[in-house]
Amino acid sequence: MVQINDMYYALSPDEEIAASGECGGAVTSILKFLLEECIVDAVLAVKKGADLYDAVPTLITDPEKVIESAGSLHCGTLNMSKVLHKYLDGANEMKIAVTTKPCDAMTIVELMKRKQINQDNVIMIGINCGGTLPPVQAREMIEKFYKINPDTVVKEEIAKGNLVIETADDEEQEISIDELENAGYGRRTNCRRCETNIPKMADLAMGNWGVIGPNSGKATFVEVFSEKGAEILDKAIKANILKVTDPVPKGIEIRNKIDKAMVNLANKWQTRHFEESNELMNLDQYLDEFDKCIKCYGCREACPICFCRECSIESESVNWVPKGEIPPSPMFHFVRMLHMVDSCTNCGQCEEVCPAEIPLARIFHKINVELQDVFKYHPGYDLEQKPPLSVINKEPSEE
Ligand code: FAD
Repeated sequence: MVQINDMYYALSPDEEIAASGECGGAVTSILKFLLEECIVDAVLAVKKGADLYDAVPTLITDPEKVIESAGSLHCGTLNMSKVLHKYLDGANEMKIAVTTKPCDAMTIVELMKRKQINQDNVIMIGINCGGTLPPVQAREMIEKFYKINPDTVVKEEIAKGNLVIETADDEEQEISIDELENAGYGRRTNCRRCETNIPKMADLAMGNWGVIGPNSGKATFVEVFSEKGAEILDKAIKANILKVTDPVPKGIEIRNKIDKAMVNLANKWQTRHFEESNELMNLDQYLDEFDKCIKCYGCREACPICFCRECSIESESVNWVPKGEIPPSPMFHFVRMLHMVDSCTNCGQCEEVCPAEIPLARIFHKINVELQDVFKYHPGYDLEQKPPLSVINKEPSEE
């Protein structure tokens, strides 16, 4: 019987899935199994669109189609929690299994606390993540540093601190991620600051770290984090849709070491972004940044924690942000901040869509980290721990 905290190496016995999957196809096999057994009504995963810079969230109901979503898309800077909440009605009507990077998983947890996502109907298949790459910049970086036409790239991955780029004619090149990031490329800036690489708040966490020996690259490391995760994995193993073995102790050690090294690196980036640059330290600097705003509402639309159906920024009774003014009153950002900042999971979506290039994720992440110290509240981890500033007891219909 599988139990919480159990760890395995897992791969798919199905040759086609194993070959299509990133590291042996265990995730794809589990998702397919969940659909076949009617444990879920749908799977929310990610499919390659036009090319590998185009990651598309996809709702799948036919088990035979799950294989189309196999593989890891590192330029997939997606907002799975928003898709689940806004476009799939918070899984109120459907049981859904969703692949979640840690920031997605943490945001889903925050939305579950706010009753915006139905916890009973969601299975989180966590995907370890050391960071994602912004697609447009990634193309530019590949041309500039690797001297490769980005359209010829078939695979990209971060391995041993290098970003490895592989082309269709088997050309492979790698450059240190530090070098790329010091030159302003590499992972998204919010990802560099992220301290959560293993989604412990998901039901299962799956990744390649720690898979060594003959299984290296051919299997995925699974860790169980909930009763739900244990039950699913147990059923999958008993149904023979997964081949599992115990992980090598040295592999567990390596996985822990890499995770620690990544957390240290994230802390260095936090120091660099929040302190050393001496930017965004006071109100005047925030106001300078907010003065660039063109009030496109992109940040509000993209923010998964901004879920109110009627936004108080537009309230008729309290004229927080007078109409027809550009830049808008800074209250636009301050009211929004008050609503989401205690639950900000540094997903980076606000900054990614901002046409005025306001470093929104950096601002909100910095404030969130300070709040974490004050309230001892880490967003996205513990479902029982309530966000310190937000009203969380409203029913979805009241929002
Ligand atoms: P597959 O069977 O290939 O299934 C992968 C699943 O992930 C598919 O369902 C696919 O739709 C989904 N998916 C693909 N891209 C995304 C995305 N951007 N967001 C959400 N879901 C997605 N493992 C580590 O141990 N360390 C890392 O640093 C690490 N970084 C990663 C970064 C990214 C952006 C991604 C997507 C994965 C990362 N992984 C990392 C996980 C690893 O690459 C494999 O996904 C994992 O080992 C599972 O392998 P598999 O063959 O079982 O998965």
